[in-house]
Amino acid sequence: MQFLFPVPASSIVTQSFAEHVHRAKVNNWTNYNGGIDWAVSSGSPIAAAQDGTVSAVRNDATGYGTHVRIQHAEGYLTIYAHLMDFNVRVGDKVKAGQVIGRSDNTGNSTGPHLHFELRKNNVAVDPAPLLTTFLPAGGEPGGGMPGGGQPGGGMPGGGMPGGGQPGPGGETPGGEIPIGEEPQSFPSLPRARVISNIGLNVRMGPGVSHPIVGWLPPETLVEVLRKADAESVVGSGGAASDLWLQIGHQQFIAQRVGGDVLAVWLALPPAAPKPKRRRKKTV
Ligand SMILES: [Zn+2]
Repeated sequence: MQFLFPVPASSIVTQSFAEHVHRAKVNNWTNYNGGIDWAVSSGSPIAAAQDGTVSAVRNDATGYGTHVRIQHAEGYLTIYAHLMDFNVRVGDKVKAGQVIGRSDNTGNSTGPHLHFELRKNNVAVDPAPLLTTFLPAGGEPGGGMPGGGQPGGGMPGGGMPGGGQPGPGGETPGGEIPIGEEPQSFPSLPRARVISNIGLNVRMGPGVSHPIVGWLPPETLVEVLRKADAESVVGSGGAASDLWLQIGHQQFIAQRVGGDVLAVWLALPPAAPKPKRRRKKTV
């Protein structure tokens, strides 16, 4: 099952699922669920991520604040927290994309944002891989898997230009170092590709505590100046396994946070391409 983005297009992610989980672990918060935070101004329309039945609406002073829960098929549940208000009642049937309320800053929240959770059989899961800009025609992702054209399953095939890189609906053919591996000699490998399908924040420093100064859509190719050194990573409250990349003056992106790989290295094109090898357009 896939889910629509519940926030207006191009809303910036301020905390990913991995960052939520990591933060909970670091702070020993046991009763804390991972989700995705998007910075959205107060009063922004919030949409149901899938067809479903409203299972709870509440106006809590703490925690999620004013929030809505929607039960979906296949044991999925979505939660929309820190709202200003809602326009649905328990038992209402809602359609994917239907506006259910407006965002705000209620409950335990430090600024206007939407905290969005996805649970499968009551276990919080990362919504990112299941988020899509549009659902297959008919609304019900029933029959065949969305093979062509649908930006599903982590590879947004359609839509993102990405500098003429990936072909329609497929992995980038070759030229990529396997996920999780690092280039042997860093200076000779100056590029990375954003694979997080909700995009990546650009922060002023190497760590989630640094202010957000921009956002890179999925599939963006970036020039990497250097890896962020371990000291600044530790100093920013991250883990030793986290890896941040500097891409500009006071511009950093997370390559790996909490074990999640968010950007992959791109191998340098071969110096003298063999005739055998299918050449890609240089970007
Ligand atoms: Zn959150």
